[in-house]
Amino acid sequence: MQCLPASTHADLIVKTRLLRHLSLACLLLLLVLGSGYAAYLLSDRSGIQTLAESGERQLELNARAVESEITKYTYLPSLLELEGNVSRLLQFPTAYRRHHVNQYLAGLNQRSGSLAIYVLDLDGRVIATSNWDRADSYLGEDLSFRAYYQDAVQGKAGRFYGIGSTTGEAGYYLSHGLREDGKVIGVAVVKVRLDTLEERWQRAHLEAYVSDENGIIILSSKPERRLKAVQALDDASRERLARSLQYHWAALEELQFAGREALGDGLEQISLDHDGSITRYLLQTRPLVDTPWHLTLLSPLQEQRSAALLNALLAAVACALLAFLLIAWNERRKVIATRLAAREALQAANDELERKITERTADLQASNARLLAEVSEREQAETTLRQAQDELVQAGKLAVIGQMSTSIAHELNQPLAALRTLSANTVRFLQRGALDVASSNLQNIAELVDRMGKITASLRAFARRAGDQGEASLQQAVDAALLLLHPRLQRTRVKIHQEFAEARLAIEQIRLEQILVNLISNAVDALQAQGDRHIWLSGNAEAEHYLLEIRDNGPGIAPETRAHLFEPFFTTKPGEQGLGLGLTLSASLAAAAGGSLTVRHPEEGGTAFVLSLPYPREPQA
Ligand code: ADP
Repeated sequence: MQCLPASTHADLIVKTRLLRHLSLACLLLLLVLGSGYAAYLLSDRSGIQTLAESGERQLELNARAVESEITKYTYLPSLLELEGNVSRLLQFPTAYRRHHVNQYLAGLNQRSGSLAIYVLDLDGRVIATSNWDRADSYLGEDLSFRAYYQDAVQGKAGRFYGIGSTTGEAGYYLSHGLREDGKVIGVAVVKVRLDTLEERWQRAHLEAYVSDENGIIILSSKPERRLKAVQALDDASRERLARSLQYHWAALEELQFAGREALGDGLEQISLDHDGSITRYLLQTRPLVDTPWHLTLLSPLQEQRSAALLNALLAAVACALLAFLLIAWNERRKVIATRLAAREALQAANDELERKITERTADLQASNARLLAEVSEREQAETTLRQAQDELVQAGKLAVIGQMSTSIAHELNQPLAALRTLSANTVRFLQRGALDVASSNLQNIAELVDRMGKITASLRAFARRAGDQGEASLQQAVDAALLLLHPRLQRTRVKIHQEFAEARLAIEQIRLEQILVNLISNAVDALQAQGDRHIWLSGNAEAEHYLLEIRDNGPGIAPETRAHLFEPFFTTKPGEQGLGLGLTLSASLAAAAGGSLTVRHPEEGGTAFVLSLPYPREPQA
């Protein structure tokens, strides 16, 4: 099976995780947007519904108001039938009667609040009018072209909205054929104003208009919409209307919608352009009773749209919050599950650990018992070893002495021979009475004896057994060792360089002397083949230990023998000359005192042994 490299595997995990997070974020975004959109649609629909219901009520109320405003005057033209002066004027017109009727009509007009009341003869000419005394009076005017006249002459009630041909004032005309003995003898006309309705709408901030049978807006809360066509007029109707002068010379432009959309349930949404800003309205229309007119109500959709947008925003925020809470809950659930798993794993590990501890404790107890047995065995062995070591030291010492016996004998023989000669000479000088010379000889004899005594004393001291404890003077030990080796040193002409200061060291005096004798005599041995022979004894006082280096300028030690130097009975010396115990013993003596013996092979040649020994402990105060 081929394994992916660790870094590629980690990369793959990171990428998968990133992809999962990214798709989750996209999903959440879609969810939030979707919920916002759904809330918008719902809110919009219910808002339109509510608006439509309240619009319906408004429409109903205002339609009633318009109807009552119109019907308020319906009776008025027929009322003139009751006035005898009117019928008399129609039948037998005189200036006097006209004046009377004019007066009557003016009074009636004032009381009823209409715009004008006038009477037409059968030719359609105005024979009396309430505004007879004004400059723009209708008196004498031919209004036979007016539809309301034609309807009334035929005995029908005339209803007409139009713009006055004389005054140019818009009004609602109601006409009635005046009868005498069942015959129409003239027409009574009342012109009323309906603009109070417009004022009322404006005060109530209502947008509404009334369109007539031709689809022309005759009443509107917005004056600019007045006399606009709610639907396109064909050329024939346009011409017909122009000829009738119903709307005077108005252009009758079409009311322009920026947009028109059916919303279902008979509802319609339209957009109107108000100086560049588009406003949307809910459009509701209702026919007005007893007229061919329609009342249209425009309810602005702005607020409802804002509310829908706000609801959409709220829904989106709520959805986002819910999603966030769900994610947080899920994360928390995961954390708790992880913690539980970790706790269980910890518990299991703990149990396992305890089981292992119990096992190990038992093992340890067993091995402890074994170790205790071993310790006592080792102690036993150590005691035996120490005894053996002591014996070995002793043996080594004796070996050194044995080695030195020839030179010691030589050393002692020389003064002995001198003593023999001196004593024989002294006897002769005494016999001759030469006391001065005899005394001088005796002096020499005493010195020779002293020297011999010293040699034997140091040999005895070297051979003596010593303990691990003690304190030594470095200078004394060096002096003693040099004295012991004096004959060899003299014979071999080795130059000793002492480059150390006196120091007190924590080792038995005799042992230090033994070590020094071993090291110096090894150096002397090594220097034998050398022409110029030197041994340097140099000291270095460190914080914990004192270092004494015994260096010679001999041939050095061959690399293959270096590893074996401190092995017992390792020697390169021929015949009986070497026992191979000197370095072993010296190292073990140094170690017993808490120090060490090491070897260095200087680059300039020769060999250097470094003896490291501790300082004596300060006596406790
Ligand atoms: P022995 O002196 O009886 O041979 P040692 O233990 O004292 O035993 O020395 C072991 C060996 O180490 C010597 O045989 C010698 O080869 C080598 N040796 C010791 N000191 C020196 C030295 N200063 N220079 C060269 N070789 C040395």
